[in-house]
Amino acid sequence: MPHAPAANYDMTESWARDADQSDPLRAWRDRFHIPKINGRDCVYMCGNSLGLQPKSARAAIEEELDDWRDLGVDAHLDAAHPWLPYHEELREGAARLVGALPSEVVMMNSLTVNLHLLMVSFYRPTPKRFKVLIEDDAFPSDSYAVVSQIKHHGLDPATSLIRVKARPGEHAIRTEDLTALLEREGEQIAMVLIGGVNYLVGQLFHMEQITACARAQGCCVGWDLAHAAGNVPLHLHDWGPDFAAWCSYKYVNSGPGAVAGAFVHERHAGADLPRFAGWWGTDPKTRFKMGKEFEPVTSADAWQLSNPPILALAPVRASLEIFDEVGMDSIRAKSVRLTGYLEFLLGERLGERVRILTPTDPEQRGAQLSISAAGMSRDVQRALHDDGVVCDFREPDVIRVAPTALYNTFHDVWVLCQSLAARLGVAGT
Ligand SMILES: *Cc1c(COP(=O)(O)O)cnc(C)c1O
Repeated sequence: MPHAPAANYDMTESWARDADQSDPLRAWRDRFHIPKINGRDCVYMCGNSLGLQPKSARAAIEEELDDWRDLGVDAHLDAAHPWLPYHEELREGAARLVGALPSEVVMMNSLTVNLHLLMVSFYRPTPKRFKVLIEDDAFPSDSYAVVSQIKHHGLDPATSLIRVKARPGEHAIRTEDLTALLEREGEQIAMVLIGGVNYLVGQLFHMEQITACARAQGCCVGWDLAHAAGNVPLHLHDWGPDFAAWCSYKYVNSGPGAVAGAFVHERHAGADLPRFAGWWGTDPKTRFKMGKEFEPVTSADAWQLSNPPILALAPVRASLEIFDEVGMDSIRAKSVRLTGYLEFLLGERLGERVRILTPTDPEQRGAQLSISAAGMSRDVQRALHDDGVVCDFREPDVIRVAPTALYNTFHDVWVLCQSLAARLGVAGT
């Protein structure tokens, strides 16, 4: 396994302690509840799966419960955060998170639902251009959603779905292979839908270049940002995809099944696109005239169907406030250093014993490293858990660990590597 540049790192525990002392984001950890295992703060490396609870989440939810208790229906207008325009309060923070204009984003539904609603508008197969391009190891829900859309249009996934693979022996998909494929087959491709950060190997795609290449071929482009939002800086407006969607319970820390995000590029605002409509997609100025014609608002809100779940949006609002205060650039700066340290320490402590499937280039990954090792098993993951280290296991021999900049420490990474070396029986531990 190639080692990360060692210049800035050292394998001693005291180095990790010192790195935490001089970490400009160190105070943010205290804004989160850290679960305990055996009475001690655990080493939580699962932010790629379910982010930890911000301490501000409870108060945000309770505030809405109180306003419901005290105001009933009047809370739509009179609550501290009035419910009628509630989703608008999340718009700016969500837009900053993904690098969009406020009018390009809306927080609604859950991720797979949003993918479907957006595909209704942006997957419009014609006899000549009908294929969909996804990653071969796309998240299963994305695969299912795409296949069902293809079938919904009366097409056959066997001829309409292209799954782009990494080269034999490689784990990441090379940008040049993707763009070559687009240049070769782009005329037949109606839609490209890729995970901005792949959930399995943690590859961060070159979204700008791939978007530009696909659009030059006339394809619609969507990004699934489930593992990218809150993890890496995004510039959706400038990169120019047609649409994107993300969930808020991974790096965005908004709680299990949290309300998801959707992005529709400004160039589609007000366009007469096919869509599934509901009353919350109409212009708020005329919404309560209860007319018979659907008059879409000229923003991403046009894809909204229902009046939003206030209790579910409250923790999203609380979490977006944290991202606004910290800023994605500082999060990314720490994240690159933290994940680089993890890579360095794995190399020092476990050497040839582990293989990192995630790209070595920091530009091609976010927080997560996917680690494969002979002897890795669910039992090893459980043993790590007994040591107070939480990470997740994927068959046959991969654990995914994601030190997240907001609440993980360098010492967390040190403990993880210590425990992993011991549990894999590496000498010297
Ligand atoms: C986590 C994840 C999902 C989950 O979908 P839900 O609709 O939120 O259950 C879907 N796609 C990707 C790429 C994911 O990482």
